Amino acid sequence: MDPDTEDWSYQPPSTPAGFQSIYVRQPDGYDFARLTWQVCDECRIGLIAKIRVTGPWQRHGYGSRMVRLALRDCDGYRWTTTPQSELARAFFPAVTAATGVDFPAQAHLCEHMRAREPRHFENSRPLAPPPR
Ligand SMILES: [Zn+2]
Repeated sequence: MDPDTEDWSYQPPSTPAGFQSIYVRQPDGYDFARLTWQVCDECRIGLIAKIRVTGPWQRHGYGSRMVRLALRDCDGYRWTTTPQSELARAFFPAVTAATGVDFPAQAHLCEHMRAREPRHFENSRPLAPPPR
């Protein structure tokens, strides 16, 4: 685990309220941490669709750092998450404690989030690693 060799990237949504993702990769391209979420600025809601941190990288703050990035510019938005793995269920209370944002596992999607996504995906772009 060498922070100097981590590669953070961001994949923007292809529709206004579509899926967007953060990936943290090793030099060989393996994404050991990944967050996928949706935000609707019109309805002021957010949904954490998927969060994954691979075994050896767990409990090093990657999850919180990714979620804090997702929450940026979303002051006062209401958030939910999909029913999650055991790991994620243990993880969200810590994020709530750190951010003051609740993530009830009752995924709430608005009509904009349900809008059909085009088949192409936006290219990922490099992302400066967020503070720990
Ligand atoms: Zn909406």
